[in-house]
Amino acid sequence: MVERGAVDEMPVGGEHLALDLVNSTFIRGGLRGHLVDVLVEPSDLGEWVERHAVGLDLASAPSGRLGAAELAAFLELRRALRAVLTAVVAGGAAEPADVAVVNAAVRAAPGWVELPAGGAGDPVRRSLSGERGPVLLARVARAAVELLTGGGREQLRACPAPGCILFFLQQHARRAWCSTACGTRVRVARHSRRQSEV
Ligand SMILES: [Zn+2]
Repeated sequence: MVERGAVDEMPVGGEHLALDLVNSTFIRGGLRGHLVDVLVEPSDLGEWVERHAVGLDLASAPSGRLGAAELAAFLELRRALRAVLTAVVAGGAAEPADVAVVNAAVRAAPGWVELPAGGAGDPVRRSLSGERGPVLLARVARAAVELLTGGGREQLRACPAPGCILFFLQQHARRAWCSTACGTRVRVARHSRRQSEV
C-alpha cells in the first residue's frame, strides 16, 4: 500500500535538490511501516517545485503547467536516481540504463549560467528549452550529476536505520541517521531489546 503524503511531511528536506527528489518517497512507521509518496498527482509535483523554488531557480524558469507527462518524467528520474545512489553508496557501479535516464534529462534542456547585468552577483540561469517541465527536470538531474561527480559524493549516505530508505549528506561525523526520528527509533528499539534480554 502506498499512501499519498504532503511535501512538508518529508522527514528529510532541504538536503540537496537531487536528494530531495529521491527522498520524496519514504517509509512511515519503521520496519513494519508503509510507503508514503508525496508525488502522486501533478499538483503534488507543482507543490514540490514551489518548495524548491530557490534550488530550482524558479525565477528564471519558463512558465507553464506541470501535468501528467511532467510528473511521469520526474518519477522516472526519481526511480533512476534512487537506483544510482543505491549502487554508489554500496560501493558498486550503477546500471548504464539508470545513468542514461539522468543524462538524458540533463541533455533534454541544456542550460548555462551568465554574469548578471552588473558584472557580479547572482548568476543568471539560461536554458535552450522554453518548456518548464524539461527545464526543471534538467536542473534536478544536473544537481545529481554535480553531487555524484564532486566532493559531495564522499558525504553521501543511505540512512542505516532499519526500514528507512532515505539518503542524506553526512556533513559532520556525528550525524548517523537521516533524521532525529530515525535516531530515536533505533535507540528505543535497542533499549527495548536490552530490557527483554534482562
Ligand atoms: Zn532514516
